[in-house]
Amino acid sequence: MSIRVIFLGTAGSVPTPERSLPAILVQRKAEQIMFDCGEGVQRQMIMAKTGFHRKMKIFISHLHGDHVLGLPGLLQTMALLNRERKLEVYGPVGIRRFVEAIKETIQFVLTFPVEIHEVEGAGVLCEEEEYVVQAVWANHVIPSLAYALVEKPRSGKFYEKPRSGKFYPEKAKALEIPEGPLWSKLQRGHKVKLPDGRVIKSEQVVGPSRPGRKIVYTGDTRPFKGFVKFAAGADLLIHDATFDDGLAEKAEEDGHSTPSQAAETARKAEANQLILTHFSARYGDTSELLKQARKIFKNTLAAEDFMKLEIPLLNGQ
Ligand SMILES: [Zn+2]
Ligand SMILES: [Zn+2]
Repeated sequence: MSIRVIFLGTAGSVPTPERSLPAILVQRKAEQIMFDCGEGVQRQMIMAKTGFHRKMKIFISHLHGDHVLGLPGLLQTMALLNRERKLEVYGPVGIRRFVEAIKETIQFVLTFPVEIHEVEGAGVLCEEEEYVVQAVWANHVIPSLAYALVEKPRSGKFYEKPRSGKFYPEKAKALEIPEGPLWSKLQRGHKVKLPDGRVIKSEQVVGPSRPGRKIVYTGDTRPFKGFVKFAAGADLLIHDATFDDGLAEKAEEDGHSTPSQAAETARKAEANQLILTHFSARYGDTSELLKQARKIFKNTLAAEDFMKLEIPLLNGQ
């Protein structure tokens, strides 16, 4: 089961003809998890054919307009399309007042519940059966959160099939374990007693647990202490790269990062892949920024609107 990441908006601050405002959509099984919600996001979703009715959570990094002004339009579009499922929105304190004020002034009638979670402290914000979303305070000019979607490790001991380690039927056959309920018991991490009296442990026929995947998103930020640890081992690190290395001073002043800083973090965090995003409108072409990052961290891409990435499970499972 792949995780798909769709970049719906990759500009910073103001949109350009090629780039919409920040929004990143993660599709995991039947669910969509969105990081930031820039203006016009619903049109980007229509173009990317993501649908509006799936289980969904939105995580807002901070309350600068480019990251949050998409919410009113998205809510309205969802209501006009008769969404019924609850929508959950997470963000720094102020997000509740923002959504309430919009609801009052625009006076649209929502067809679905909106559950707002104001984030006051770092840590695990939501825990689902198969993954958690964690946050840490970043270093921007206003309170801003960086997020990580982290799948739980999948082990034969703790999870039912199909989240257990890989099952090897040929090993089970070699041990002459009768196919059927005994196989599934072993797959679920239990030991079994065979009719001939032998006791077989799960480890004999099931591989080790598989680590979950990890996607990290910085939001707007300068490099900051503690982030390397937060992003450690990320399959995908999506990083602010608003300005090129030559404008490092401006980046510092405005609370942003440069490609080299993003790449340095990816290297230290031992991420698998780095994606630069939130580009200043001055860059029609981002190849120079990409070059700067790749000098330090080779496996880097510059995000484009509608770029899609698949993150498969290890061993293609
Ligand atoms: Zn921004
Ligand atoms: Zn900002």
